[in-house]
Amino acid sequence: MKDVRESSVITDYKPDPENILEVRNLKKYFTVQASFFGKPLAFLKAVDDVSLTVGRGKTMGIVGESGCGKTTMGRTVLRLYDVTDGEIYFDGRNISREKRARLRDIRKDMQIIFQDPYSSLSPRLPISEIIAEGVRIHKIVPKNEIKDYVIGVMKKCGLPSHYYSRYPFEFSGGQRQRICIARALAVQPRFVVCDEPVSALDVSIQAQIINLLKDLQRDLNLTYLFISHDLSVVEHISDTIGVMYLGSLVESGDKSGIFGNPMHPYTQALFSAVPIPDPKTKMKRIILAGDIPSPVNPPSGCKFHTRCPHCTDICKDVAPKFSECEPGHHVACHLYTGCRP
Ligand code: SF4
Repeated sequence: MKDVRESSVITDYKPDPENILEVRNLKKYFTVQASFFGKPLAFLKAVDDVSLTVGRGKTMGIVGESGCGKTTMGRTVLRLYDVTDGEIYFDGRNISREKRARLRDIRKDMQIIFQDPYSSLSPRLPISEIIAEGVRIHKIVPKNEIKDYVIGVMKKCGLPSHYYSRYPFEFSGGQRQRICIARALAVQPRFVVCDEPVSALDVSIQAQIINLLKDLQRDLNLTYLFISHDLSVVEHISDTIGVMYLGSLVESGDKSGIFGNPMHPYTQALFSAVPIPDPKTKMKRIILAGDIPSPVNPPSGCKFHTRCPHCTDICKDVAPKFSECEPGHHVACHLYTGCRP
């Protein structure tokens, strides 16, 4: 699939200094079909008009079904993909159209922890080299201090110093994810995209890794964009939450607002599947009809209308605006007509 780029008007928008990240109307389309002359004929709209903000030192959780665009959105925010349209402000700087060479100075500030700790580590390198690589590239410490520095980072991430010369195949899944975390944090980032960092791990190990991420956030004042389909994990670690469906945000707000009062029918269905730790409480699970539609040919109007139990005629033709229904709680749904656009 090829990247697609649209022309976009660069505004003189000034982001709020309280936010380390602001994303405005972000789009990431891939060309899935082109004419003989290369003209794009069909797009996969992986991220379609997403706007969000993440405060410094906070965690924003992104939830949604597999294939909803969470991972593509996280990678586009880091500029691992080029932007089709929209703006990304990192620490006040618009990086949405920066050339790759010019992004080098902020690469160390923005890191990612991948989902699969098995495939994301080179099997040929000892963990000392895996962690030290970025330290060398970004000249984090003088050459003669690299070994001590790497051992210090390993200890912070719960890896004893005698692991220094070992290879990834010698470690369990949880330990490998600690190595991935150490590799990301060794370059002293301020913002980390955690892309399903615990979904490949056993449940008992998940809690250890989540607690490690929380401790590191507190000690190093990190900001996380935490992508997961596991709502219990997201509830545990996040300050704010965004719910994605078919490439778009359908609801966002504080954790207490989203979990205490989920407003969008999709969020309600998603949250109804979370087990309640009380044997006396009966779960009222909302089962959605049908599969998630193709992002190549998304439904008209509200993208959720083909599966929504509250769908009305207007939903089929008119896309609902993302509106503020409670302070800081935004929803895109025609059920809430009195909300502030
Ligand atoms: Fe359902 Fe209509 Fe709201 Fe979409 S806009 S979620 S179809 S009620």
